[in-house]
Amino acid sequence: MRLEQLATVAQVRAWRRSQDANVALVPTMGYLHEGHLSLVREARGDGGKVIVSIFVNPTQFAASEDLARYPRDLQRDLRLLDAEGVAAVFLPTPEEIYPDGFQTTVSVGGVAAPLEGAARPGHFAGVATVVAKLFNIVEPDRAYFGQKDAQQLAVIRRMTSDLNLPVDVVGLPTMREPDGLAMSSRNAYLSPAEREAAPVLYRALQAGRLAYEGGERSGARLREAVAEALRSEPLVFVEYVSVADSASLRELEAAEGPLLLSLAARIGSTRLIDNILLP
Ligand code: AMP
Repeated sequence: MRLEQLATVAQVRAWRRSQDANVALVPTMGYLHEGHLSLVREARGDGGKVIVSIFVNPTQFAASEDLARYPRDLQRDLRLLDAEGVAAVFLPTPEEIYPDGFQTTVSVGGVAAPLEGAARPGHFAGVATVVAKLFNIVEPDRAYFGQKDAQQLAVIRRMTSDLNLPVDVVGLPTMREPDGLAMSSRNAYLSPAEREAAPVLYRALQAGRLAYEGGERSGARLREAVAEALRSEPLVFVEYVSVADSASLRELEAAEGPLLLSLAARIGSTRLIDNILLP
């Protein structure tokens, strides 16, 4: 394996100093799928060396959430990254990232407040803090994130701009299964029946797109078009459906300009999110 495994901040800093090429970072929580690998491939294609971090960040999980059972398969992840020509992988322990006495948080304002921010209090503070730390540890020229987590991408863009972090943030499209289900490490939680029900999330977003393309501009009616499609699947419990401005994530009464159509739903004990951009 040519992939270098780095466990400590000091090792990453030494690795970074030894690179003359520019460096691209792909932050992940592991249990890699084609969505993650699409970010890696794009990062490679843009030139330079690619470093992937695998860290199931405890501070972005609430006490009630799935931190303990989050899926992991490090050996498989390492094989996949090696096969993609990734130069290094950062595998810190929680103690390496949050040593005794740690007490600083990066808190992003408005864009982190609604949707996932409202449903998962503290989540984006955990995300912003760990991403700021990764940027400072790795000092990448570019960092790659998926549109799958659209609000996370917006929060990271906001933080990077607000704090003048010298990193180009690149957002990339959502990779999907053939039936439309957005790839996610959490899909592994789904029972066969739940997995069969799950593509309704994307179908519902497409119902919203169809209404939009038919000229519907009422936020309420677009949300209802999505919600109605979701109701066709009894295993799905809807948390929210949103029609928001794609930059500010403010909910819209009239759907003008670039929109983020997004939803969160539970299928059994698994919480899934998905979104599309319109037009
Ligand atoms: P995660 O391991 O879930 O924290 O995801 C790591 C990165 O991969 C984030 O930037 C995600 O937005 C991105 N990602 C996750 N799923 C997908 C997907 N289906 N398509 C594209 N990117 C994804």
